[in-house]
Amino acid sequence: MAISSFSQLALRPELLQRLADLNYVLPTAVQAISLQPALAGEDLVVKGKTGSGKTLAFTLALLNKLRCDATHVQALVLCPTRELAEQVSVEIKQVAALIANVRVLTLCGGMPIGAQVSALKQGAHIVVGTPGRVEEHLLNGALMLSEVDTLVLDEADQMLDMGFMETLDSILVYLPPNRQNLMFSATYPEKIMQAAKHFMASPQLLEANEQPSHSNIKQIFYKLDNNKMRLNALRVLLAQHQPQSCIVFCNTKVETKRLFSELQQTGLACVELHGDLDQGEREWSLLSFANKSANILVATDVAARGLDVEAVDLVVSYHLALEPQTHVHRIGRTGRGEHKGLAVSLFGEKEMFKVEQLQSLFQHPLEQGKLPSHTLLDRPAYKPNMVTLMIAGGKQQKLRKGDIVGCLTGEEGISVKQIGKINIYDVQTFVAVKREAVKPALRKLNQSRIKNKRFKAMRA
Ligand code: ADP
Ligand code: MG
Repeated sequence: MAISSFSQLALRPELLQRLADLNYVLPTAVQAISLQPALAGEDLVVKGKTGSGKTLAFTLALLNKLRCDATHVQALVLCPTRELAEQVSVEIKQVAALIANVRVLTLCGGMPIGAQVSALKQGAHIVVGTPGRVEEHLLNGALMLSEVDTLVLDEADQMLDMGFMETLDSILVYLPPNRQNLMFSATYPEKIMQAAKHFMASPQLLEANEQPSHSNIKQIFYKLDNNKMRLNALRVLLAQHQPQSCIVFCNTKVETKRLFSELQQTGLACVELHGDLDQGEREWSLLSFANKSANILVATDVAARGLDVEAVDLVVSYHLALEPQTHVHRIGRTGRGEHKGLAVSLFGEKEMFKVEQLQSLFQHPLEQGKLPSHTLLDRPAYKPNMVTLMIAGGKQQKLRKGDIVGCLTGEEGISVKQIGKINIYDVQTFVAVKREAVKPALRKLNQSRIKNKRFKAMRA
């Protein structure tokens, strides 16, 4: 039975209060069907599209039964990529804020292993990680999972696509047999069910009954006479709409890289996301896109899948996706919730059959647009409203968001409305501010003391 309110659940008071604080008023469709059996300890395979709130579903299940007085690892969450693991970790910590002393540890590749081993020695209640690095810690004896109550496989379809099945199998050996298993996935291919059999005896299969209506997403298709027009068609559409937040999807890594550098040369504020970036580069791309100091994210479908970016103003298919389902995922990035979204797609004669496939999927004729005039390109490229500033201090210097906001809004400072996202790392902090506030913000940051210390700040 689906629930209609969080209060129908036997949740601990700290969690109910926290949901209210976070303004999570109603459960999403995925949460409505999965929370009750998840809290009851059942094994589940849950399907829900990207952005449907799967993270909160398992987060509540884990936290509700967590015993903080115990020191062993009680839950293991496996994610396909570092970014997803980081995001899940952040969400768990956020929801756990009112429960005292919850220790969440992220174990991902690309980070120094020594620091993770030391952190493990301090104890952790919940471990979130990527399969490779978790296995490594199991093999060298730093991680003990023999008393785990709950195993979560997040974005399981992607994990299988990335060939993690064998690693998962070898991790399973370290877990006790009497545990709860929760598997979450955006799609439901046959191999998910086969994989599920490795983990659980007779899981319940749950699927959120939400036909994405996409009624608040306007789609326009632009036919190109030849491939050489593609770049300029995109540029002219960007100049027309001037989106503060736009994802341009490419079908391949090679094309993603090329398009990124072409757009960058035209002066547009863009970043790239694909499998060839190193950890630092990916984080930078995501940070500047999320805080809106970069307007355009050029990405492959795989790299962008599952990432929790707020609704974007515009989604562009530079080439039509190979599969209709991928197209649906792409356009679902815009027009979330109440917002109106816009998705534009470029296609050539050879891609006509894909348009027809989509036509039968959406069951209505697709709107074909006429490209705006090229004179739009005579003007200089538009600029982002936000600019990222870097402060040479972070968690190690005990900097908190409140300190930064306090400093910026102090005497002769800037207004709260001019401050955007703040990301605090170990020894660095990034804060986005409105373009017109850059000068006073830098003056404030460089001339004031925070926590009785001076920190250097500059444009990132
Ligand atoms: P998924 O993993 O299904 O792709 P996420 O778990 O990343 O989706 O959730 C997408 C967004 O929805 C997140 O920003 C999350 O904070 C938000 N969200 C989740 N549950 C709720 C809720 N009940 N009410 C409002 N927002 C929610
Ligand atoms: Mg997810």
